[in-house]
Amino acid sequence: MHTVDAVIVGGGPAGSTSAWKLREAGLDVLVLDRAAFPRTKLCAGWLTPEALADLELNSQDYPLSIMTFDRLHLHWKAFTVKLKSRQHSIRRLEFDDFLLHRSRARILQHRVRDIRRDGNDYVIDGEFRCKYLIGAGGTACPVYRTLFQKRNPRISAFQTATYEQEFAYDWQDPACHLWFFDDGLPGYAWYVPKANGYINVGLGGMADQLKMQDGHLRQFWSRFVRKLKHRGLIDYADYNPAGYSYFLRGHADAVKSDNAFIVGDSAGLATRDMCEGIGPAVKSGLLAARSIITGADYSVAGINKFSGSGLVSRILERRFVGQNRGRTEVSENLD
Ligand SMILES: Cc1cc2nc3c(=O)[nH]c(=O)nc-3n(C[C@H](O)[C@H](O)[C@H](O)COP(=O)(O)OP(=O)(O)OC[C@H]3O[C@@H](n4cnc5c(N)ncnc54)[C@H](O)[C@@H]3O)c2cc1C
Repeated sequence: MHTVDAVIVGGGPAGSTSAWKLREAGLDVLVLDRAAFPRTKLCAGWLTPEALADLELNSQDYPLSIMTFDRLHLHWKAFTVKLKSRQHSIRRLEFDDFLLHRSRARILQHRVRDIRRDGNDYVIDGEFRCKYLIGAGGTACPVYRTLFQKRNPRISAFQTATYEQEFAYDWQDPACHLWFFDDGLPGYAWYVPKANGYINVGLGGMADQLKMQDGHLRQFWSRFVRKLKHRGLIDYADYNPAGYSYFLRGHADAVKSDNAFIVGDSAGLATRDMCEGIGPAVKSGLLAARSIITGADYSVAGINKFSGSGLVSRILERRFVGQNRGRTEVSENLD
C-alpha cells in the first residue's frame, strides 16, 4: 500500500493548484489521473488575468503558447460590439501539463474507481492510503460520485453541453470572436486563436434547453463551420469535433466531508454567464489546500458565480439557466 498525506484525483487546473500549494507547505502529495500528461482537454482555452494572477504567473513569463486580446468581438444577430477587455488564450494540452509538473507532486497515471474509508484514512482502489483526499476529476469525478453526490446532486438546469475542436491552422484574424444565440443555440459559439498557429472553435449550450427544442449540437456545428467559411475566418476540410459536458455554478452546498474535498468541475463551479471554469477551478484548488494547511473552513461561497458584472451577465444567466433552477437531478452516467 502506497501511503501519502494527500491524494488528489485529477490533474487539471483544480487538482494541480491544490497539489502545488500542498507541496509548498511540505505535504507528501500524489496526483492520480486516468490520462497520461500532456493530455487533451476539450476547452476553448480562454484564460482571465485573474486566473493567471491566482496561479502567480504572468503572460510574459509563461513559457508556452499564450496570446493576449485587448478586445473581445461579441456578436448577436446583426450587432457586433468590440468590448474592451484584456484576456488571454492558452492551449490546455500545454497549460495543464505545465501546471501539473510545476506542482512538484508525484504523478501517477491511474483511473480511480473505488474509494473507501478506513479509520481516519481514505483507501483508493486498495492501493493508495491518505489522510486528505481531493476530488478534482471533473464532471465524472469518482470522489464526487462516492462521497458527495447524494448531498450535492447535479441539477440538470445547470448542465452545459459543448462541441469543439482545436487544430493547427494559419489563422489570419487574430481577434477572439463570440457569437451568442445564433440559430436559436441556447449558448454561444467561439473562435479563439492561439499562439504558434493553432485555433480553437466550438459551441456550447444548455443541455436542458437543447433537449426541449429537440436540437443537437451537431446541427449547430454544421451551420457554424459554414459561417466561419462564409466570413473568411476558417476554410478547413478535416473537422473532427468532440463533445464534453460540465456544470455551471448551482447549489454547491457540500464541498467538504471530513477530510475529503471537491474542487473545480467536480463541484460544478463554472460561471453562470460565460461558462468559465478555469478560474473557479484554480480558486477552489487554492481554498481546499488552504483548508488542509491551516485548518480554515473550506467553502466555495466566495468564488464568483459570474465572469462579468452588471446587466449583461444577468441577461446571459437568465438566458442560460433561466427560471428553471429546480432540483431535477441528473442521473445518467457522465463518464
Ligand atoms: C468545450 C469546452 C470549452 C471550455 N472553454 C473554457 C474556456 O475557454 N475558459 C474557461 O475558463 N473554461 C472553459 N471551459 C471549462 C473548463 O475547461 C473547466 O471548467 C476546467 O477544465 C475545470 O478544471 P478541473 O481541474 O476541475 O477539471 P479538468 O480540467 O476536467 O480535469 C479533470 C482531470 O481528472 C481526470 N479524471 C477524471 N476521472 C478520473 C478518474 N476516475 N481517475 C483519475 N483521474 C480522473 C481527467 O483525466 C482530467 O485530467 C470549457 C469547457 C469545455 C468542455
